[in-house]
Amino acid sequence: MSSRRYIIIGNGFAGTTAAEHLRKLDPSSSIHLFGDEAYPLYNRIALPPLLRKQIAASKVMMRDLAWHEKYAIELHLGTRVERIIPEEKCILVHGRSYAYDALLLATGGAPQPSQLPGAAGAQNIFHFQSFDDTQLLSERLETARCAVAVGGSFIAYELAEAFVARGLETHWLIRGPRFLRRLLDEDAGSLLDAAARADGVHLHYGDEVASFETVNNQVQAVQTQRGLRLPTDLVGLGLGIQIHLDLAIGTTIATATGFVCDDRLETSIPGIFAAGDAAEFFDPIAQMHYRMGTWNNAGAHGKVVAINMAGGDQRYHDIPEYSSKIFSDQAITQFGLSPELRPDLHMVRRLDRNEGHYRALFFDGDRLAGGVFIGKTNRAGKRRYLDAIKARATFAANEREALLDWKAV
Ligand SMILES: Cc1cc2nc3c(=O)[nH]c(=O)nc-3n(C[C@H](O)[C@H](O)[C@H](O)COP(=O)(O)OP(=O)(O)OC[C@H]3O[C@@H](n4cnc5c(N)ncnc54)[C@H](O)[C@@H]3O)c2cc1C
Repeated sequence: MSSRRYIIIGNGFAGTTAAEHLRKLDPSSSIHLFGDEAYPLYNRIALPPLLRKQIAASKVMMRDLAWHEKYAIELHLGTRVERIIPEEKCILVHGRSYAYDALLLATGGAPQPSQLPGAAGAQNIFHFQSFDDTQLLSERLETARCAVAVGGSFIAYELAEAFVARGLETHWLIRGPRFLRRLLDEDAGSLLDAAARADGVHLHYGDEVASFETVNNQVQAVQTQRGLRLPTDLVGLGLGIQIHLDLAIGTTIATATGFVCDDRLETSIPGIFAAGDAAEFFDPIAQMHYRMGTWNNAGAHGKVVAINMAGGDQRYHDIPEYSSKIFSDQAITQFGLSPELRPDLHMVRRLDRNEGHYRALFFDGDRLAGGVFIGKTNRAGKRRYLDAIKARATFAANEREALLDWKAV
């Protein structure tokens, strides 16, 4: 009988998946799962359709209290873990200590707030990270007629799409020259720009908020650096996330953009692991550390980290990938490395403006490292590319253009 004690901080997809797998691997262990939100695991990637009123709130919930009881996972909701004391192998919660044999940091991140004039105290500036954020914003959208989305990230896109889908006059303010500017070149950006405009979004590139004009803590208009004044009923911010790294303070856990860990997802302190959005993990295929903020990555980390927390030796070597619809008429698929992480990658690409299709493949020296596809029906061959990346296949310069024609086999 195992008497191992597992503590997991963060009950998102990474943390809850780890708890589930730990229970299977170590049936008689004790598992404490802490989360500072009020809910058991819910599906964060279902929040955009919830905000667009395309699904009911009940569809977003993935686990209930009974599930945790059934698997003897002690769930502590609404409970923020305050401190880790690695030398005593325990954590502190409201002054009480819980001892662990293996600890998981699956703390995700929080939206970057705006520090600009007028932001502090404004009641109609919204973030879009949690179920509660979504409920608050959705209620406000019932009566609003116009809105401004701010930022060049995926979250800013989701906000702009929800605003326009709910019938609001929508302005989208992007500081850079296009949406996802570090990932996409100008041509790819122009396809997504066309999709946004086709749905009726007013785009403003190369401009950013100068201040929020407020009356009684309500933003009435957004003033931009280039002198625009956009009257609005509300503002949605998508300025990126700040990873919750505060638990590393006062410890020797190495941090950079996340908790730095190896390909077993173990941090610089043996017995302390990290997973999901908060983990800056080593990818042995790409041969580098990075953080990956995707749903699939969080779940895959949860499975692997459970094995290692239970004393196993499993390496994480998945190729990151995601696909997303972009407004009504476009879609994006990305896999492997991209210029966002490695601006030095060499690119071959093809644009078919009539079809609205775009393909870019990225090479690290001779090795295929990743790709980006745009177009709803432009995903053929993805499996072949992923296999080639996994096999570390190399291609001479004169062979690379032909790879753009790969179809499913
Ligand atoms: C609106 C939205 C849409 C998205 N759409 C997509 C998509 O289409 N595709 C995709 O791949 N990804 C998408 N993502 C990203 C994806 O949801 C995340 O990558 C994933 O949910 C991360 O899971 P996680 O378990 O690592 O972290 P989280 O889900 O962030 O969970 C971490 C939890 O830990 C809690 N916590 C932090 N510190 C403490 C502490 N000290 N004590 C207790 N609890 C703590 C946090 O409050 C949080 O509840 C989206 C995200 C959002 C917000």
